[in-house]
Amino acid sequence: MPLLLTNIGQLATPPALGPRRGSAMRELQLIEGAAIEGSGAGMISWLGPFSEWTGEIGEEIDMGGAAVIPGLVDPHTHCVWAGDRLVDFEARAAGVSYERILAAGGGIRSTVRATAEATLLDLISLARPRIARLVEGGATTIEIKSGYGIEPEVELRSLEAICTIRDKAKVRIVPTLLIHLPPAAAEERPTYLRMVTDELILKVAEQKLAAAVDVFIEREAWHPEEAAAIFRAADAAGLKVKAHVDQFHAIGGVATAIAHNALSVDHLEASGAAEIAEIAASGTVATLLPGVTLHLGIGAAPGRALIDAGAVVAVATDLNPGSSPLYSTQHALALAVRLNGLSPAEALVAGTVNAATALGLEDRGALVVGARADLLALEEPDWRSVAYTLGASPVARVFIAGEELAS
Ligand SMILES: [Zn+2]
Repeated sequence: MPLLLTNIGQLATPPALGPRRGSAMRELQLIEGAAIEGSGAGMISWLGPFSEWTGEIGEEIDMGGAAVIPGLVDPHTHCVWAGDRLVDFEARAAGVSYERILAAGGGIRSTVRATAEATLLDLISLARPRIARLVEGGATTIEIKSGYGIEPEVELRSLEAICTIRDKAKVRIVPTLLIHLPPAAAEERPTYLRMVTDELILKVAEQKLAAAVDVFIEREAWHPEEAAAIFRAADAAGLKVKAHVDQFHAIGGVATAIAHNALSVDHLEASGAAEIAEIAASGTVATLLPGVTLHLGIGAAPGRALIDAGAVVAVATDLNPGSSPLYSTQHALALAVRLNGLSPAEALVAGTVNAATALGLEDRGALVVGARADLLALEEPDWRSVAYTLGASPVARVFIAGEELAS
C-alpha cells in the first residue's frame, strides 16, 4: 500500500542523489506545501507540491506543517567501546598533558583495556543506547568502526557486535574495520602489520564483517607506507578503504589514501593548501569532525577552503570516548557551521548526500523519486533549524525506509 506524507510545510533537499562538490553544495531544492509518496518497498515514488497530487490516497500521514529534510548520514563513528574517559577529561581540564595521562595508564590505552575485557554482549549493550541517541539526532544511516580491540580477536568481537546490532536495527548500520594503533614497541610493528594484511583483513572479508578498512595515519600511529600495505590488502580482499589523516600532522596520509581511491579522508585539522588541492582534484570525500575541535580544543579543519577549492565535503560526529563525545549527528552539522565555516545549506548537503558518498552509498541523502524514503520532520517549520539548534534535538520525527520510528 503506498503511503502519502502530506502537509509538509517546507521540504528541503539536495536536488539529486550522489556527491555534490564546491558551489553545488549550496544548491537545495525547496518545495512549500509538499507531499511525498512512499512505495511499499520503502522508496520515494512521487514528491512535489500537494496541489499537484492526482493519485489516490491509501494511508496518509499528516506532517502538521513541519519542515522535512532527508535523514542524516553519520559516516564516521566509533560507537563500540567499553569503559570511559572521565578521569582523563577531569585531568585535562586541570591542565595535565595527554602524554602524562597516557603514561599514567589513561588515554586510549585504557579504552583498549576495557574493551578487551568486555564480552560480545557487553559491547552490544553498551553500543545500543549510543546508536539510539544518534538516531534521535536525525541519523538514519550510521557507520561504526572497530578499532579499540587492537588484538585481532577483540577487533573481530567488536565487528561481530556491530553486525549483530545491524541485523536487528531499523537504522542502517555500516561496519568498518579500523586499524587504529601499532604496537608500542617498534620491533613488533612489522609482525602486527603482517597479521593485519595477511590474516585479519582476509577473515573480515570472508565473514563479511565490514564494508571497508580504515587506517589512522599519524606520526604516532601508522605511517603512509604501512597504510599503503593495508590498503593494498583491503583492495585485494574486495573491501573499500578510508583513512584518519592530518589530525595533528600532515605526513602524507591524504596523498596515500587518494592514490588508493579512498572513499573518504577524515579529520584534516592539520591539512594545508597542498592537501586541500589534492582532495579537491579527487573523488575522495573530505569528512569534517567538528566535535574533535570542540572537545580537544584543536584547530578546525579547513571546511570553507575545501568547499571553495571544489572538494566533496561531509560531516560526522566521530562519536568516541576520547576525542569526541558528541552524541548527535545534527549537532555535528550545527558545529560545522560555527567551526568549519560552512553555510547551513552546505552543512545539510555535507550531512546527507555527501556523507552517503563517504560510505559508497548513492541511494539516499536526497528526497527525490527513486531514493530511499529516509526522512526527518523537524520541530520548526524552517529547515535551517537543523543547522542552527544547539543543545536540544530539532528533530521531531524519524522515518526510515518510509516507516516512522516510535519516539
Ligand atoms: Zn575517528
